[in-house]
This record gives sequence, structure tokens and C-alpha cells, in this order.
Amino acid sequence: MDRDEILHYLKTPGTDEELFRKADETRKKHCGDEVHIRGIIEFSNYCCRNCLYCGLRRDNINLNRYRMNEEEIVDLALQIMSFGVKTIVLQSGDDFFYTQFMICRVIERIKEHADVAITLSVGERPFEDYRTFKLAGADRYLLKHETANKELYKRLHPHQSLKHRIRILEYLRKTGYQIGAGNIVGLPGQGIDDLCEDILLLKELDADMSSVGLFIPQHDTPLSGAPRGDLSLTLRVLALARIATGNSHMPVTTAIATADPERGLFRGLKAGANVIMPDFTPDRHRKDYTIYDNKAHITLKNAKKTIQKANRTISSHKGDSLTRTSRKS
Ligand code: SF4
Repeated sequence: MDRDEILHYLKTPGTDEELFRKADETRKKHCGDEVHIRGIIEFSNYCCRNCLYCGLRRDNINLNRYRMNEEEIVDLALQIMSFGVKTIVLQSGDDFFYTQFMICRVIERIKEHADVAITLSVGERPFEDYRTFKLAGADRYLLKHETANKELYKRLHPHQSLKHRIRILEYLRKTGYQIGAGNIVGLPGQGIDDLCEDILLLKELDADMSSVGLFIPQHDTPLSGAPRGDLSLTLRVLALARIATGNSHMPVTTAIATADPERGLFRGLKAGANVIMPDFTPDRHRKDYTIYDNKAHITLKNAKKTIQKANRTISSHKGDSLTRTSRKS
């Protein structure tokens, strides 16, 4: 699918039915009917960055901050594994309270107990940390590129750059990680052309996982008054990213589930997704991981119910990269 074709679909809402059918066929051909479940632990909502759209931003003094300790994280990971979940996603703001040593110890202790995949989503760190986490047993790293428009990136992420973000993703791949990238649809100041570039960038990065979120304002951020991203457009971007990337793992993001609490997960699965990520963060903390307002709580139970409803099967595997397998052959 070339740039013109992507732009045509992005600009023509009437083509949704045809587009989602194509995306679903592509998903079936490259990924099969299995849906992978990844269990998320949001272990800290501290962040040293100041992204304009995010409730975890450093300057948000109204947020009740929390950190889980090593014991709590490992115990929760073991509990998630006992439910048959084969991937644990360790997610936090960019929180340097957790040293290289602490994160390595968590990874090693989880890995000691079972054959699970560990995805880290702990933001921008020194390259040396990434290398050491990999040696400790981390398998995957999730670092969304957020937007492929470098000017917009700069405006929304003070003191950060898209160039550095991409350099990190390339380093992670070189270090042996399965990498996850992704964008946000509906960011204030974003155009349709930018979304097209996002899709092309996911293809160019050859991401093992590609995630498509949508902008939802958070009341304590500078973008609190901006309108929410459009869900139909987000689903079109998801479908186009599926068609463009072929066999990249693609989650139905929590933002999609938040925008349509009743049917969001189902619609995402029908538009090309093959991953659902239930959130296992303890209740006492989850309410404070407010990257945006009214964030949906995806549970294991509703993930399983939706998979069944979509006539798909729950994977019993770790769901390693399909991109990588095809690259080797
Ligand atoms: S988007 Fe990520 S890096 Fe930016 S403020 Fe939120 S948690 Fe921190």
C-alpha cells in the first residue's frame, strides 16, 4: 500500500467496511486467529518528563504519585502468570528512582519462576541500561514514537526529539529486543498527512509490535481543553497499519477501549488487531495512573469474553515476534 492509497483511505470514511475487511484478511493471513494476552503492571506513575498531553507529566502537582516496590512487582507478576498469561509488561513513567540494578533484579526474579516474556515500557534511559536489561532477560521494549511529525513531536515533548526516539528504537533492535512502536491519533496540531507518515514509519521501523492509540485529554495538563481524537479515524489508522505492516503484533489500545467502553475491544479486533493487554495494576494504584481521563480498565475476563465473541482463540504461547520469524526466512 503506497502513500496515495493510505491517504485515500484516511480521507474517505465511507470506505470503512472495505478497509476493515482487508485489514482482517491481512491479520488472518499473517497472524492467524490467535489473540495474544499481555498482562500490564503499571508499577510507578512518577515521571521526569513533561509531555503536554499526559497526566503523569512532572509538572502535574495534583497527581497522587505511587511506586511499587520490588517485592510487590514480582509477586504480582507471579500471580498474573498463574492465570496463564505468558507476557508481563512492566510499565512506568520515566522514573529513575528505579536503578539499572533494581530493574534487572525484578526481571531476573520473574524469569526465575517461569517461561514468560518480559516487555519493558519504562521510557528513555541511557543505552547502557537497555543493554543490561536485555542481558538480565528482558525480551521486548515498548517505546511509542507518538508522532512522525518532528516539529509536532518537539512541541508536545519539551527537551526531547523524534530523532533520538528513533535512534533508541534502532539501538533496541540491534541489542536483540523485539521492539514496539506506535502513534497517537488526534493530537492537537496533527494532520492527516502526519498519520500517513506514522503508518509509513511503522513499516520502515519493521516494528515487532505496532500500537495505535488516540488522544484523550487529561484535566490537569496544558491540553485539557483540546478535543478528543476521533475513534473512527483511529480504527482506520489501525486497519491501515495492519495492511502496511502485515505481520506486526497489534494491540487494541486502552485508549480505544476508553473511547468506546462497550465495543472498543471488539471493534479493534475486527479492524486488524491481534493483541489485548489487560491491566493488573492493583486497584489502589490504578486510579492514579491517569495518563488521560476516565481510562478504561481492561480485565482478563473482558479480554477473554471479547476474544470469544469475535470468534477468535486465546493464544497459549508467549506470542513472540512474527516479523522476526519472517525476516529470517
Ligand atoms: S507520556 Fe510518558 S514520558 Fe511523557 S509524561 Fe507521560 S509517562 Fe512521562
